Amino acid sequence: MLDSVIIGGGPSGLNASLILARAKKNIILFDEDKPRNAVTHESHGFITRDGITPSEFKKIAKQDLMKYPNFRLYNERAMDIKKEAGFFSIYTESGNVYISRKVILSTGLVDVLPSIEGIHDFYGTSLFTCPFCDGWELKDLPLVLITENPNAFHKIKLIYNWSRDLIVCTNGKNALSREQRELLLSKKIKVIEDQIATLHGSGGKLKSIRFKNGNEIERKGGFVAAGLKQASTLAKSLGCKQLPNGGIEIDHFGRTNIAGVYASGDISLSTPSQVINAASEGSIAAMGVIHDLVNEDF
Ligand SMILES: Cc1cc2nc3c(=O)[nH]c(=O)nc-3n(C[C@H](O)[C@H](O)[C@H](O)COP(=O)(O)OP(=O)(O)OC[C@H]3O[C@@H](n4cnc5c(N)ncnc54)[C@H](O)[C@@H]3O)c2cc1C
Repeated sequence: MLDSVIIGGGPSGLNASLILARAKKNIILFDEDKPRNAVTHESHGFITRDGITPSEFKKIAKQDLMKYPNFRLYNERAMDIKKEAGFFSIYTESGNVYISRKVILSTGLVDVLPSIEGIHDFYGTSLFTCPFCDGWELKDLPLVLITENPNAFHKIKLIYNWSRDLIVCTNGKNALSREQRELLLSKKIKVIEDQIATLHGSGGKLKSIRFKNGNEIERKGGFVAAGLKQASTLAKSLGCKQLPNGGIEIDHFGRTNIAGVYASGDISLSTPSQVINAASEGSIAAMGVIHDLVNEDF
């Protein structure tokens, strides 16, 4: 019988594993290794690791974990989890079944980009989602924000912090009110509501945006407001409560509404999506598991 399984080996699941391993718990981390930031070449904003490649971050994390003999890492997808008589059966892609007392879900999110020709050629190289992650690298350049989202106004203000040379493209959507457009114009932020035909550039570097009406604007990079969806259906199938923003509801120790199931990292949408926040949430959920196991066993 395992003390806990952790599903998802991003920064959140990796840090959860570290805290559980150091508490002498018998644990397995299942990871199918498709992290959200796989498209990026550099990850920023984690002190001591600023600019590291996501794969190098993961390699160092695994080296830290391999010191603990009570930790195992299986590179496979957890297909299903069933709760029976207070324990969890974890069914994996290879057909194996593991029994555990607790489960931490750190399965992350997937970005859903607007359907624009060429967008994936630039995403992660010169087009990003988060200015806190990649704003410095694009600072003071001619930027675009592509957003179809009616709640985009605050994101525009944020990106303006990094560059005053900003054009907002709504790709044919009516994403901003008249008052918002007027305020943007007063800051010399142009809003183009025409439908985008294609993004143009080479080697991942954006050069211009071509519109269906034949117009074209030159931009060196920018941001895109992506939709977010859960990377896994495990939380839903276990009956974990989902908040209106799509995040899994957790308490201050990562507990979901299902006893014995914890969630951490991007999956909860309870902190801004960043590696350091995901790692922190993993640590907190692991402590939640340990507190609860100690209470049950003492
Ligand atoms: C383009 C881009 C750039 C970014 N840049 C930065 C940056 O510079 N700095 C920063 O701090 N943050 C950055 N982020 C955000 C950062 O990537 C996330 O906040 C962070 O990866 C979240 O960690 P996580 O552990 O919650 O999820 P993830 O890192 O997404 O890890 C989840 C893991 O779970 C696995 N998984 C899912 N389902 C299953 C299953 N059923 N069984 C087994 N495994 C499963 C996945 O394959 C994946 O390996 C960026 C994000 C994007 C999209």
